[in-house]
Order: sequence, then structure tokens, then C-alpha cells
Amino acid sequence: MTKRLYNFNPGPAALPLEVLEEAQATFVDFQGNGISLLEMSHRSRGVEELNHETQQLLLQLLNLPTSEYDVLFMGGGASAQFALLPMNFLHANQTAHYVLTGSFAEKAYKEATYIGQAAIAASSRSQNWSHIPILDEIQLSGNPAYLHLTLNNTIEGSRFNSIPNVGSTPLVADMTSDILSRKLDLQPFSMIYAGAQKNLGPAGVTVAIIRKDWLLQGSKLIPEIMRYETFAKHQSLFNTPPVHAIYMMNLMLKWVLQQGGVAALEQQNAGKAKLIYDVIDNSSGFYTGIIAHKDRSDMNITWRMANEALEKAFIQESLAHGFEGLAGHRSVGGLRASGYNAVPVEACQALAEFMTAFAEQHVSA
Ligand SMILES: *Cc1c(COP(=O)(O)O)cnc(C)c1O
Repeated sequence: MTKRLYNFNPGPAALPLEVLEEAQATFVDFQGNGISLLEMSHRSRGVEELNHETQQLLLQLLNLPTSEYDVLFMGGGASAQFALLPMNFLHANQTAHYVLTGSFAEKAYKEATYIGQAAIAASSRSQNWSHIPILDEIQLSGNPAYLHLTLNNTIEGSRFNSIPNVGSTPLVADMTSDILSRKLDLQPFSMIYAGAQKNLGPAGVTVAIIRKDWLLQGSKLIPEIMRYETFAKHQSLFNTPPVHAIYMMNLMLKWVLQQGGVAALEQQNAGKAKLIYDVIDNSSGFYTGIIAHKDRSDMNITWRMANEALEKAFIQESLAHGFEGLAGHRSVGGLRASGYNAVPVEACQALAEFMTAFAEQHVSA
């Protein structure tokens, strides 16, 4: 095999080599069935068991009780959830509230405006998303349907560190880029969703984790295929699910367990991020972080350099040294290193060393 790159892609993102190799080993003949999983009926016992086990594992790792939450496997990415959430839970006499902390949060809000009444509860847009608004005294007007938070802002590189208390209003979180990366008490949430391609596996499946009591309140005025309740009632087998993506997620979840679960990964992720933030903070302004220190993400580390030419040179040289995916999102520019769960410590060490050497070269030049 060619040398594996140091993969800092923002999503689809790095997967553990062990997971890729296991998937390869089981690809042609799935568990002695004589055919590949790709060729198996989604109604077969094997696929039903796979679905069930994956749902249970995910709840276990997130420390959520199986008696209170359903795990749904859906299509359309996290972006489809932006629309499905208000379609299901924003009723005619209600207002859906959104905290805008980045461009994915803004997209989620925009979709809600097509469905019904939506309001901006707080926003850091005018400060270029450089921090997370303080929500201690947040007031929600009207008859709130829910409050939506993007817990980790993938493009900007920020994250929530505390969850606002909004009484009985249901809380909803987009956790696409931080699910299973840090310990958070998720019990206050009525719904969590995540596209798989950052911390959960490959693209193609999206998880929605919803409180059973809230599920029952979903709209009956939308097509069945759009209803969360339909997916819950049929254990995500109402129509053909993305079976192979679910299998990859299953392997990924077992890998997370082997690493020691979310607590162990959180510690590792903080150490990985610190390696890179330290280089930024000790570079005398050669690299400048974009996000307020208190709100910095461990998953997506963003920074800028003196000018675009220098940033371009950095990216060019990083590619030549085996680093993949360090360019910032096309909408914001700059640099970004995404250190999801599957990115090994060694990759972050190598990046920190590369950044230090690059700075030394270009400061003295
Ligand atoms: C990547 C991402 C999305 C978009 O996910 P898709 O699966 O491409 O629709 C939404 N929200 C967050 C926080 C993300 O990181």
C-alpha cells in the first residue's frame, strides 16, 4: 500500500485503519453468509440484528437510556434534518428558535423559515462567528416549538461548552462534528442528529436520536416517509436503509468502545488539539486563531496567516509533506485541521512539527 496520509479532512473524514481493514476482510462474504452484505436483503435476520446492535451501542456510548430514546437511521445527510426537524416538530401555532453560531446553524434556521415561524434566539454573525453567544438569560418568545443549537461549528471551529437551561422547551442539537468526541450530558436534549461522515463512519447514513415522548408529537400532516415516527415504528426498516454505511458505523462504534469510550477519546482529543493550538499561540502572531479561546473546538482547529499567498504556500507545502485537508472551508478561507476521533495523535504531532518548521522558515526568510 502507498503510505497513508495524515488525514485532516473536515468530512468525509479519517476512519481508523483497523475499521477499514475489518470492512475489507468481511466485504465479499459477510459473516459466512455466502454473499456480501451489499447483496443481502435488508429484511434478513443479519441486517435486522446489525441495525439493532448499532442502535444499542450508540445509545450506550452516549449514555442515553434505551427506554427513553429511539435511534433512527436516515438518508439525506444532516442537511435533510435541517428541513425534517421543523416539518415534524414546528406546528402552526408555534415558533422554532435557533442560535446562530456558524453557517450550518444558519442553514438549519433558513430551512425552518420555509416551514413556519422561526426566530433567531441569539447570533454571533456580526462578530464573524468568532465566539459562542452567552445564553444564561436566554428568553424564547411566542410559543416555542424547540431551541436548536449547533454544538460544534465545523467550518468556523467553535463549540458550545455549556447547555442553556430553557425549562420545558425541547432542546435539539446538531452534533454532526462532535458526536462521541467529548462527554456531555445529553439527557436535556429531546433530539440529537448527526451525519455520519465526521465521527461516526462514512457518508450515506444520518442518525437522529429522539425522545420517545417527543416522537409522538410529530406532525401527521406530512408524508409518511418524512415522519420520524415512521422510522421509529419500523426500526428504520420502513424502506431500504443504507445498510453498508450502518455496518461501517457499527465497526466504528466498536472501535470507540475499544478506545475506552467517549471519556477516553475526549482526553485524547483535547491533547491532540492542544498540540496544534500551542503552536498557534506560541507563534508570535505568525498563526492567528480565529475563535475566542473559551469557545475553541477540539474537533476543528481554524487559523489564519498574514496573507493569502502565505496560506497558499502553507497548503502546498503541507500536501508535499503528506498532510491532507488543511485548507479552510471555501466560504471562509484560512486553514483548518479537523482532528476527529479517528485522527491519531501521531498525525497531530507531525502537524505541530510541520507548522513550527514552516513558521521558522518563513519568519527568517
Ligand atoms: C457536515 C455538517 C453538516 C452537513 O452535513 P451533510 O451530511 O453534508 O448534510 C451539518 N451540520 C454540521 C455541524 C456539519 O458538520
